[in-house]
Amino acid sequence: MTYTTTTAQIQEAREMDAIDPLRSYRDLFHLPLRENGQAFIYLNGNSLGLQPKSVRKFVEAELLDWEKYGVEGHFKPVDPWVDYHELLTRSTAAVAGALPSEVVVMNTLTVNLHLLMVSFYQPTAGRYKILMESDAFPSDRYAIASQVKFHGYDPETAVVQLRPRQGEVLIRMEDLEKVLEEEGEQIALVLLGGVNYYTGQRFDIGQITRMAHAKGCRVGFDLAHAAGNIALDLHRDGPDFAAWCTYKYLNSGPGNLGACFIHERHAYNPELPRFEGWWGHNKQTRFNMRQAFDPTPGAEGWMLSNVPVLPLAAMRASLEIFDEVGMPALVEKSKKLTGYLESLLKGLENERIRIITPAHPDERGCQLSIQIQNGDKSIFRSIREKGVIADWREPDVVRVAPVPLYNTFEEVCRFVGILAMAIEETK
Ligand SMILES: *Cc1c(COP(=O)(O)O)cnc(C)c1O
Repeated sequence: MTYTTTTAQIQEAREMDAIDPLRSYRDLFHLPLRENGQAFIYLNGNSLGLQPKSVRKFVEAELLDWEKYGVEGHFKPVDPWVDYHELLTRSTAAVAGALPSEVVVMNTLTVNLHLLMVSFYQPTAGRYKILMESDAFPSDRYAIASQVKFHGYDPETAVVQLRPRQGEVLIRMEDLEKVLEEEGEQIALVLLGGVNYYTGQRFDIGQITRMAHAKGCRVGFDLAHAAGNIALDLHRDGPDFAAWCTYKYLNSGPGNLGACFIHERHAYNPELPRFEGWWGHNKQTRFNMRQAFDPTPGAEGWMLSNVPVLPLAAMRASLEIFDEVGMPALVEKSKKLTGYLESLLKGLENERIRIITPAHPDERGCQLSIQIQNGDKSIFRSIREKGVIADWREPDVVRVAPVPLYNTFEEVCRFVGILAMAIEETK
């Protein structure tokens, strides 16, 4: 049977768009255009979020300050550069469900994972292992293995991989529990994703933190695919630390800086080892330059370098939108939009399609990972040709993320028709 999106379905999708309280936010973003001038159906906000139109204004303001003030831009402008990062703190804390003192925007994600492992991975002869997902993002695997080696341990024995069961793709909580039961006393650090980049599976940060802390492990989360996607409550859930990038769901621009969370309980802990730099030093005496390191209490005490103002200006533009919408409204739309995508995909009744992302809305964010039996990259190329930007993971998975800030129900509906057509073509 050849599947096409019916006019009735498009009509229904448009009706959902018409009553969507967030519908106007799409206009705040630049949508990439096809050669024919029409907008792509952009379902790749999980890799790189779209550009808010207001970015230009924010960046130009800083270019102008630089032009006008030179070095005095650090203190003279309305938004002085010396503590420009603080302009992002409140919004970042809101996205993370953290206290403002628990978050800081600095460096990039992999760099921050290393810095945080310096503080929170302190192996001893008896407790030296790191627990991670077998299918973690490659950069996290490299960072973890190299930290283990740096401390003189062998990744073969010191990195414990949490694996899905044979024939399954998702991680089961009871399997995590079992690993902690068996090896918890040897595990120094549990470092997992908040949402897995490949399967879209979401982990329960609070529950995992409680289980790991009960075994005496430190706990950190990589929230690259969680920040700006799911509701986070880091302060209450209580992990020791977390880190995320901001160019995915947080739309800050390619390679922009990351953010970190360090729980309040560590804010004043002078025992915690850390790598030090002048921007982590107490602001009051930073420019005396002669004193021993006196860390700023809270997450800012982990800063190393002075603030890269231009990328942060771009990030401000995006966070302003998040402030206005708020995570609860975003999540509400996100669940509807992704639920709609799921229902249309199921409606295809195509036995070659399998959604590997968890079916329960609380166990995922907006991304669905669609496995296509006997599919290959030609499907991906075909949907690109037909106007969809998504993401392909070898051997057979298309990842799509309908983003509540700028995607529409109509786009989701059209995408499903296009995907069905592309699959049909590659029989
Ligand atoms: C996107 C992503 C990264 C990328 O790291 P960068 O240091 O920002 O290049 C790392 N880990 C995960 C889980 C990711 O999803």
